[in-house]
Amino acid sequence: MNKHARIFVAGHRGMVGSALVRRLGAAGYDNIVTRTKARLDLTDQQAVNRFFEEDQIDVVFLAAARVGGILANSTMPASFIYENLAIETNVIHAACRSNVSKLVFFGSSCIYPKSCPQPIREEYLLQSALEPTNEAYAIAKIAGLKMCEAYNRQYGTHFVSLMPTNLYGPNDNYDLTSSHVLPALIRKAHEAKLRGDATLPVWGTGSPRREFLHVDDLADAAAFVMESSVNDGVFNVGVGHDLTIRELAQMVCRVVGFEGALVFDAAKPDGTPRKLLDVSKLEGMGWKASIALEEGMRATYRDFLDRCASAQETGVAA
Ligand code: GDP
Repeated sequence: MNKHARIFVAGHRGMVGSALVRRLGAAGYDNIVTRTKARLDLTDQQAVNRFFEEDQIDVVFLAAARVGGILANSTMPASFIYENLAIETNVIHAACRSNVSKLVFFGSSCIYPKSCPQPIREEYLLQSALEPTNEAYAIAKIAGLKMCEAYNRQYGTHFVSLMPTNLYGPNDNYDLTSSHVLPALIRKAHEAKLRGDATLPVWGTGSPRREFLHVDDLADAAAFVMESSVNDGVFNVGVGHDLTIRELAQMVCRVVGFEGALVFDAAKPDGTPRKLLDVSKLEGMGWKASIALEEGMRATYRDFLDRCASAQETGVAA
């Protein structure tokens, strides 16, 4: 790939988009195009069409999305389905019309059925019902990857879909009402440590199993796909092993230095019991994750501490 290619990273302020900008910049790509939401609202079809007509974009990373944890997903399903469908239809269609050479679309492991065999292979998609807590989001992401496949088939485009497992890393969302479990536990354990609490509340039973991928690994996989000859298809991106929420919470306590006890709140939803991706398809092409969870978590905690030095952002009384 030409280092001067005009690469549009949609969603560059988010955790995935910002990791992509870092990764592409480090690899010497010098023509990365970004737009803030204030300047380009990706749910506005006319604005997106205008942007693609005026800017000669070569490659698109579609990392803009409405995302959130189990609570936000189950309480705001309309926002999740509407915003994600709008962004996908606008960007994918406009990218096709302007003949971009490649588009990488980011989905999520929650596109797979609730009760599917583990580890989850790409072909299990649409084999049975989805997990209800994030069905609206999952349907929108499935629509995105099906759009990519349909455009490839009808127009010969090169649109590739990556399905990452649960992500974490710098620039994560630490708002407890909308965050995912790993940043939520980092913040909760940090605050519990500062207050000298005896216990740390953890949602659900602690028994669900989840797999966690550092966002820098995802950005690396996406750059790998961009530079490869892969022009079509869906690829899981993960580390290939998982742990229980209880084990995750114990690791967070170790990293943060909180020594109290875990208390499980079974009134909160567990969500899907297990979500481990089979990553052999991408590994077979030569890509593998390299950041170990505890090491990535330590770096993420440092990022959290840097960012919450300005206490307003996270509400932490540091
Ligand atoms: P999911 O992977 O789509 O279910 O999304 P989450 O990352 O939000 O939740 C993963 C699991 O962690 C679920 O079983 C949650 O109940 C559990 N969990 C435990 N404590 C928390 C918390 O403080 N926040 C969130 N979001 N999940 C938590």
